[in-house]
Amino acid sequence: MCFHYQGGELYAEGVDIKQIAEKVGTPFYCYSTDKLTRNFEAYRAALADLNGTVCYSIKANPNLSVVAALARLGGGADVVSAGEMYVALKAGIPADKIVFSGVGKTAQELEEAIRLGILQINAESAAEVEMINRIAVAQGKKANLALRVNPDVDALTHVKITTGTKENKFGVPWQEAHDLYVKASQMPGIRIAGIAVHIGSQLLDLEPFRLAFTKIASMVRALEADGIAIENVDLGGGMGINYNVELPPTCEAYAEVVRETLGDLHKHIIVEPGRSIAGNAGILVTEVICAKSNGEKNFIIVDAGMNDLVRPALYDAWHTILPVTKQGIAPIIADIVGPICESGDVFAHERIIEPVQEGGLLAIMCAGAYGAAMSSIYNFRPLVPEVMVHGDQFAVVRKRTSYEEMISGHALAPWLQ
Ligand SMILES: *Cc1c(COP(=O)(O)O)cnc(C)c1O
Repeated sequence: MCFHYQGGELYAEGVDIKQIAEKVGTPFYCYSTDKLTRNFEAYRAALADLNGTVCYSIKANPNLSVVAALARLGGGADVVSAGEMYVALKAGIPADKIVFSGVGKTAQELEEAIRLGILQINAESAAEVEMINRIAVAQGKKANLALRVNPDVDALTHVKITTGTKENKFGVPWQEAHDLYVKASQMPGIRIAGIAVHIGSQLLDLEPFRLAFTKIASMVRALEADGIAIENVDLGGGMGINYNVELPPTCEAYAEVVRETLGDLHKHIIVEPGRSIAGNAGILVTEVICAKSNGEKNFIIVDAGMNDLVRPALYDAWHTILPVTKQGIAPIIADIVGPICESGDVFAHERIIEPVQEGGLLAIMCAGAYGAAMSSIYNFRPLVPEVMVHGDQFAVVRKRTSYEEMISGHALAPWLQ
């Protein structure tokens, strides 16, 4: 059991959340090593017969210890910036297990990736292929290239996290991909390594995956018929998780779709899960600053804000919110809001919850992906600590930023001194 109640108190594995709060203060993120491990192993087991590599999508949660925990399990990484590549390497992921995706990679980032000889660079345009070739030739190397193709499949998810339709900025248009492969295969700095697709995030239905993978299989066949060998088939991430009442597909069901659509090609399958590895392995713990009522409405004001967890404000996302100490008293209906001067700083509208008084703790569940990763110091609020639990041990794996650190890069302009 990763997050569970024991005698009315919320625990992360064997550690009392209240005890962590006393030690590190609030708000803080708390990650379960056990949950991360189970989520990772579920993919690995499901893909075992498919020659699969699980390249964890660092952007979901780039904490060094989170990535290191996955690296120890043999995981690779999907990175979308040179910064994420740096984290992946620091965490012990070897370069030959790193995939570099992203719609706007800079020349500097590509130079680094080519120098390191990473597993695959997923290019998203003809111009990018040219740039990769130029850089590789200058280094006297061949870059391992894949094209991220846009299969024009609607992932049926939130519009801000749909990436696989022709209306959005991602990938090489389906009709242009084949010709670009032919062109790229003739460039001296390019070695064709694979093909990539990523259609969106928080998918709850396997059909968009099936459509996309079927199209990818047909493109692989067409390319190989033209003498262009494909080693790696990178299927991206995107599997949804249960935030509230969702029923996401299992890894086995997902792998079955991979088997049915691509199994007979016998390629090296890469998957890039982010949310479905880190999401339910993390919570955000926050303290109630005050509880107030204006006669019509109850408000619970907490010390975490949209700068710490932006998903509710950005995507209208639902997060289950639990009292860290269950009192067994009748619930109320309340808005749970942060302290930021923005009307969007709301974690939950009209939520049924046990009344929690000033000083009480709440746990915002399923905050391990796109939580700390998307946090900011808006309102000049420090980045909150991240804690990792392992059995009955816990460790601060990122400390709270201090005001000195927050202001350290600032400078007075000469005319203000
Ligand atoms: C964001 C992203 C992922 C991870 O998506 P999840 O929904 O978190 O699994 C994988 N691949 C690419 C290219 C991405 O941009």
